[in-house]
Amino acid sequence: MSSSKPAKAKPLIKPDRDRRFASEENPFEAMMSRFDIAAAHLKLEPGLYKVLRAPEKQLIVSVPIKRDNGEIEVFTGIRVLHNTSRGPAKGGIRFDMNVTQDEVKALAAWMTWKCAVVNLPFGGAKGGVVCDPTTMSDGELERVTRRYTSAIIDLLGPDSDVPAPDVNTNERVMAWIMDTYSMHKRHTVTAVVTGKPVAMGGSLGRKDATGRGCLVVTKRALQRRKMKVAGATVAVQGFGNVGSTAARLMQAEGMKIIAVSDKSGGIHNPKGLNIADVQEWIKKHRVLEGYPKGTPISNEDLLTLKCDVLVPAALENVITSKNAADIQAKVICEGANGPTTAQADAILEKKGIYVIPDILANAGGVTVSYFEWVQDRGGYFWDEATVNERLEKIMIKAFDEVSDMSEENGVSMRIGAYMLAIDRVAAMHRLRGMYA
Ligand code: NAD
Repeated sequence: MSSSKPAKAKPLIKPDRDRRFASEENPFEAMMSRFDIAAAHLKLEPGLYKVLRAPEKQLIVSVPIKRDNGEIEVFTGIRVLHNTSRGPAKGGIRFDMNVTQDEVKALAAWMTWKCAVVNLPFGGAKGGVVCDPTTMSDGELERVTRRYTSAIIDLLGPDSDVPAPDVNTNERVMAWIMDTYSMHKRHTVTAVVTGKPVAMGGSLGRKDATGRGCLVVTKRALQRRKMKVAGATVAVQGFGNVGSTAARLMQAEGMKIIAVSDKSGGIHNPKGLNIADVQEWIKKHRVLEGYPKGTPISNEDLLTLKCDVLVPAALENVITSKNAADIQAKVICEGANGPTTAQADAILEKKGIYVIPDILANAGGVTVSYFEWVQDRGGYFWDEATVNERLEKIMIKAFDEVSDMSEENGVSMRIGAYMLAIDRVAAMHRLRGMYA
């Protein structure tokens, strides 16, 4: 594998004050340090560098709701639009106690690059509400969703900003957003969110899309590395939408899933887990803890298991300078956003580990979100085979374009992906010119 040359790539401008104080775990810093390397390789003009670095809009809102016991609670909601030069902003909404403005800013920028890597006509956004949905009733969750939607409604719209599900949000939440937005607009606007239930304008195949995209690029990476798909051993961190789907589809391709985990911990079985059986357990018990057909393993130990493919599909910053040297996987498919810190990149690269970066690996979700938006706007819906076929085509094309970029420039797949994305967004800015 070719290697990136961060040492030679000089930053275009000096880091500003807050960046000097940022830590390895700061997600905005993690994103920007890759951006800096890619921008330097592209010899991006300093003016455009400044434009692409800054989010276009950041909105922080109060989300007051009445709890079931009659008390008033006020949550904080955030929505960040990073760049809309290529089209409407696109990005998920997460409900989590760990949501911060820095995280949302980073994830919004990631969406800009992700949409550009797979060449969708979208910009990037992200949103979140600082709350713990596990302690809330359905009614409270609905009130938070509707109040947050109405607070950010000026940003939303099929032509301006189109949310989707993310951590702890799902199609139920998207349905509430769609309904709230439509009530304000006085007519039904299905294309304002994606990841909706199929019965209300969602796309077939959307639920599995991110995990399916992970499968497509992992197979391509194994082929590039001249490794067999059938029998390849896989460890998956995170057994939510992305992780469980990737595990299920990989198993269906003959890969052996030797470990999976969720927030409660992991389970390891070198002979291979039956993913359908694990899913049945989760359906009954809500968490993986206690699953009997394997040995318990911590989330930390799962990451360093000897395996062919590691799929971090939970949260960011799980592969860091502290554990990167211990990783034994040959290929890492980043199902989650930002699972690897910038410091860990160099260590993994030195070890020759082939990393399929998040902005490529998990772009299947936004690709089928794009299909959903297209179908809603066209009022004509595709069958699932068509969705999957078109998804695969886009993922393979993007994988090959990133590979080419990385080989031609002697950089890692991650920097190749950033270069491809930045180049596309920058090209749009150059063509549009500066309205100033
Ligand atoms: P989810 O809420 O469905 O699942 C998250 C999983 O991670 C759960 O199994 C949870 O138990 C586990 N988890 C949470 N905290 C953990 C911890 N500290 N250690 C280990 N496991 C932990 O979320 P999701 O939709 O599957 O998203 C997972 C990741 O993938 C996120 O980074 C998200 O941004 C990214 N992503 C999701 C999509 C999508 O379509 N859902 C698309 C692109 C990227």
